Amino acid sequence: MSIQKHIVVGAGLAGCLLAWRLEQAGQDVTLIGSTTMPNASQVAGGIINPVTGRWMTKSWGFDMLISHAAATYRELEQQFEVELYHPIPLVRYCQNSIDVKRVGRRMRNPRYANVLGDSIDKGDGPDSFEDTHGSFQIKQAAYVQLPLLLQTLREHFTQAGIFRDETFSHADLTRQDSQWSYHDLEADHIIFSEGVGMQANPWFNWLPLTPAKGETLILECPTLDLPRAIYHHRKWLLPYGDHTFRLGATFDSNDATSEPTTAGARTLLDAARSFIAPQHALTVKQHYAGLRPSTKDIRPFIGDHPTEPGLHIFNGLGSKGASLAPELIRQFLAHLLGGQPLDPEIDIARFVETVTNPPQTDATH
Ligand SMILES: Cc1cc2nc3c(=O)[nH]c(=O)nc-3n(C[C@H](O)[C@H](O)[C@H](O)COP(=O)(O)OP(=O)(O)OC[C@H]3O[C@@H](n4cnc5c(N)ncnc54)[C@H](O)[C@@H]3O)c2cc1C
Repeated sequence: MSIQKHIVVGAGLAGCLLAWRLEQAGQDVTLIGSTTMPNASQVAGGIINPVTGRWMTKSWGFDMLISHAAATYRELEQQFEVELYHPIPLVRYCQNSIDVKRVGRRMRNPRYANVLGDSIDKGDGPDSFEDTHGSFQIKQAAYVQLPLLLQTLREHFTQAGIFRDETFSHADLTRQDSQWSYHDLEADHIIFSEGVGMQANPWFNWLPLTPAKGETLILECPTLDLPRAIYHHRKWLLPYGDHTFRLGATFDSNDATSEPTTAGARTLLDAARSFIAPQHALTVKQHYAGLRPSTKDIRPFIGDHPTEPGLHIFNGLGSKGASLAPELIRQFLAHLLGGQPLDPEIDIARFVETVTNPPQTDATH
């Protein structure tokens, strides 16, 4: 494999993992990312949940994604001697009789056999939770310590002299024959992993991104002792084992700001109060917010710019970056470095044929 020069833009989960895999592949890589701009990965719970949403459907591609995700986080743990990946039981509470019927149907469906466990009858779960309609177990769940992953990889890249903590200026990227030039750098490939920052990217802002704001709280509750699990009861509650809990997350496609709001905290606390017994006092210790890089068709934005050779995007991980990123990076790099075709479901080529105005760069050069 020939060694080529790459600039990865954006040091969130996507950009950090991409740069790490490029480095492992012996490629020349520079990561440019601002640690002060909005960053979804920094505020995410990092939960991997195979059965989600009101309809309790199995997440897209879960069986293909999970083994590579687990192996990738384990590989990082070994290389950097940190704990990132935490497999954990997940208990989901039914909200009404329709949920009870739906989960019964799912349990009879062989496609769900590897992700659904037993149902738990009313009254058999922890006393601290309301459980009028019972609950059920979800298997193969986990959470990933994403802030620690970012910190670990950014420190590693800093030591290797390949990380620039700065805002990338699109106007300063110019083509020089078959290469791209950015300040003192020359590159064969620029890979943009800017999360919602892609809206300012003149080469890729034609893709239909639909950012969705999310807020989470870190709560403290000295009296709440729960068996180790993630509890999903309208919102999810992740106990960290030291009487602190992460509660999340809101979902709001109408607020384009990334700041925490009083309304967001209210929504989360109201949800928590509706299922946690009243004797448990909840104290808010932290309040985080961010914008998920969600997409119109709920599939990632991956691939090559249709008219500018050497410009690529790896984005659109939406609400599921922790499970999606490792395997999709493997597929993207097999395409970039090995010439493999991309799965049409993730390839941005799916929009090139459908947009009424073909994508034209509004860059000035
Ligand atoms: C509240 C909340 C909870 C979530 N919970 C979960 C969860 O439990 N499980 C899960 O899997 N996912 C969750 N997500 C989604 C998850 O955060 C995303 O899927 C994932 O982190 C996206 O990673 P990314 O690297 O693509 O984007 P980001 O993490 O947003 O990273 C993009 C980076 O690019 C940088 N950048 C952008 N433009 C520029 C520029 N011009 N110059 C320099 N840098 C730039 C930004 O600073 C940022 O650091 C949650 C999201 C939110 C908001």
